[in-house]
Amino acid sequence: MKSYDVVVVGAGNAALCAAISARESGAEVLVLERAPKHKRGGNSYFTDGAIRFAYNDLDDIRKLIPELTGEQAGKIVMPTYGTEDYYQDLMRVTGGESKPELAEQLVNLSYQTIRWVKEQGVEFELNYSNQSFEKDGKYQFWGGLPVKTKNIGMGLMAALFSRAEEIGIDIVYEARAIELKKEDQRISSVIVEMLEQTIEVNTSAVVLACGSFEANEGMRKKYIGEEWGAAIVRGTEYNTGDGLTMALAAGAQPFGEWSGCHAIGTDYQAPRVGDFSKPGDIFKKHSYPLSIMVNQEGHRFVDEGADFRNYTYAKYGKEILKQPGHVAYQIYDQQVRPMLRKEYNLEEATYHKADTLGKLADQLPVNKQQFLETIEEYNGAVMEGNYNPTVKDNKGTQGITPPKSNWALPIEKGPFFAFPVTCGITFSFGGLKVSPNAEVLDENEQPIPGLFAAGEMVGGIFYGNYPGGSGLMSGAVFGKLSGNTAVSYIQAARTVH
Ligand SMILES: Cc1cc2nc3c(=O)[nH]c(=O)nc-3n(C[C@H](O)[C@H](O)[C@H](O)COP(=O)(O)OP(=O)(O)OC[C@H]3O[C@@H](n4cnc5c(N)ncnc54)[C@H](O)[C@@H]3O)c2cc1C
Repeated sequence: MKSYDVVVVGAGNAALCAAISARESGAEVLVLERAPKHKRGGNSYFTDGAIRFAYNDLDDIRKLIPELTGEQAGKIVMPTYGTEDYYQDLMRVTGGESKPELAEQLVNLSYQTIRWVKEQGVEFELNYSNQSFEKDGKYQFWGGLPVKTKNIGMGLMAALFSRAEEIGIDIVYEARAIELKKEDQRISSVIVEMLEQTIEVNTSAVVLACGSFEANEGMRKKYIGEEWGAAIVRGTEYNTGDGLTMALAAGAQPFGEWSGCHAIGTDYQAPRVGDFSKPGDIFKKHSYPLSIMVNQEGHRFVDEGADFRNYTYAKYGKEILKQPGHVAYQIYDQQVRPMLRKEYNLEEATYHKADTLGKLADQLPVNKQQFLETIEEYNGAVMEGNYNPTVKDNKGTQGITPPKSNWALPIEKGPFFAFPVTCGITFSFGGLKVSPNAEVLDENEQPIPGLFAAGEMVGGIFYGNYPGGSGLMSGAVFGKLSGNTAVSYIQAARTVH
């Protein structure tokens, strides 16, 4: 194979942003995608396309969505979400662990990067259904996440692939990078398994953007915990940690929370790895604050109504994994069933339904006596009050452990429903140490000449949790940066040699 200025490993959002920015800077670029073409695009393809960036006002948003008419704009209330708001959200959800030099880069470059992503042909729309509510005839946006990509992750990736192809980036599929080679301490080539052959591609710079290790059962068990072997993989099956393994072998410094990941409660019958023919976030089950969750022993194990789901879903996914058989049942009655989110009505949603709680228990592999006792005890503990799922209504329970702090209604009106859920891993937080310009650093904090990283491979930004929509933004910011930095590195190296 011919040699390239820059080889980008992976073909998700971060990788294609890296490839496009390197190409824009004049480099000859090759993208290596481990997946076959019909499974290209990584976790980015599976996303809802929600993307978080800092903005001042609706005018900033309208630059991304120019088709928004004046009339539509007049019906929108869009509170400012500035860089300080974004930074504080990032620090809050990571318990202050996010590394300031990387967090600042993500936040401060977010708006200019999203404008650049738009210039590449990616289209955006307002996320009315998840991020706004109607009041006095206006859509009030909240939560700093008003925008998503058109046609979710599929639309994002289709636009980036089409741009990459248009500007002459070579992309090869079923090409798995397995090793980095150096000459005079500089990256000089990548070894690739391709079509049952092992080939060497010569290059001056490599951008690693091939995900973390969420799809590698052995690495999950080793770094996150034994029970994580049982987790469902919500996204691509190809992010098995190859990039991390290659980089560490080349002297890179591991960084970030290798024992951490993002995970959620997901349909027990969801595919073991993400199904590219059914992308989109269709297996989550996010109405659990209105439920009680019961394990196989018939016990509750979390305060389902502790807070809005935005603040509990990541940690409750992990709690479900700890339950016997890694399964829990979300229980609803007919009063609540019509209020459940749209994913409960998809044909993919699996559930049990019965006229009585006893008959429901008969359909489940649960300890029936304890199951019925738990519900009876819960029903007896529900306090009076105004039930209102749109606010934290303080209509909780009294005298049971764990409590249910909000949205408690007795489960008494048939038919009754049980939605079985398990834990689905979104991505792991283990990554590499990089400079704010995406250079991969060695154990002495020095850049490894010719090695760059972006996306999930950047360690040190997310700990414990992440503010929704920041995975794509981090990929775009560090992807674009890594492509630029790689080209500057090549130019500087050519001047010297
Ligand atoms: C169901 C789901 C919904 C999500 N929703 C959102 C959302 O709405 N907003 C948000 O911000 N984030 C969301 N996320 C998180 C988001 O997907 C990730 O943070 C982000 O997409 C990671 O981008 P990336 O480019 O680093 O990795 P990926 O997009 O996963 O790309 C990695 C690429 O590397 C390739 N690869 C792996 N190993 C090799 C190898 N050895 N050689 C060559 N190629 C290789 C893979 O095939 C893939 O193409 C979601 C994730 C999931 C799973």
